[in-house]
Amino acid sequence: MDQPIALVTGGQQGIGRGIAAVMAARAYHVVIWDLNREAVAVAARELGGSGYAVDVTDFGAVAEAVTVVEEEQGPIAVLVNNAGINRDRMLHRMSEEEWDQVVDVDMKGPFNVMRHVVPRMRERKAGRIINISSASWQGNVGQANYAAAKAGVIGLTKTAARELARFNITVNAICPGFIDTPMTRRMPAEAFQVMLDKIPMGRIGTPEDVGRVVAFLASPDAAYVTGDVINVGGGMVL
Ligand code: NDP
Repeated sequence: MDQPIALVTGGQQGIGRGIAAVMAARAYHVVIWDLNREAVAVAARELGGSGYAVDVTDFGAVAEAVTVVEEEQGPIAVLVNNAGINRDRMLHRMSEEEWDQVVDVDMKGPFNVMRHVVPRMRERKAGRIINISSASWQGNVGQANYAAAKAGVIGLTKTAARELARFNITVNAICPGFIDTPMTRRMPAEAFQVMLDKIPMGRIGTPEDVGRVVAFLASPDAAYVTGDVINVGGGMVL
């Protein structure tokens, strides 16, 4: 395979799909991972890429999937840890399960994938890792689990950036603000409007707004950027 490979987790819909579409348009071969086998296959076909059903919370399955992707497609040049969920509830009512699920997918997921991709990138002395955090990492009512996990992703990003700089691997995070995806479309109409009202640019973001910043961080233009966090939120402050 001549094209560099960009792996996008949670890539069959929403922001991940937008990232994959932008990367495909920029001549990457996109490999998407997602939970639903049929949906990931359809999305991969539409993107002209490859799709695998992989649950990022499963350490062993991720190890196996990284090996399969590199054998079948080639070396992963760009890793985008995008898969994420929310289970919003006020802290005093949040269940242990709601806490565990979100931390498992949103914080342990990126660790699991990096843990298995990074040794390969270190050997090749090349790689770009982009982790999708959230504007909520700084705190947001009803999102104690999500904010904690997304803040954890920033700590993970900044530590990995320091460890991997000498191997020519950059690691950065993007904090989307309020983006039009199935996740945000599930919100009650009133909460949706409250979020819209917080955006100085006056519109919800698109998955491609995030995808273009991912493409920048993956490009030679961002060769000297690592350990950084870029907000993509139309100026939104929570
Ligand atoms: P969506 O729910 O629209 O898409 C997320 C995708 O990830 C889904 O296809 C989902 O599959 C998949 N996924 C969930 N769990 C796993 C798992 N364990 N392993 C593999 N794939 C999984 O979310 P968004 O596109 O809105 O969000 C993408 C990322 O951006 C997330 O990390 C989110 O936290 C972050 N973000 C989103 C914002 C927004 O406004 N939308 C704002 C800030 C950050 P399934 O549907 O089958 O569960």
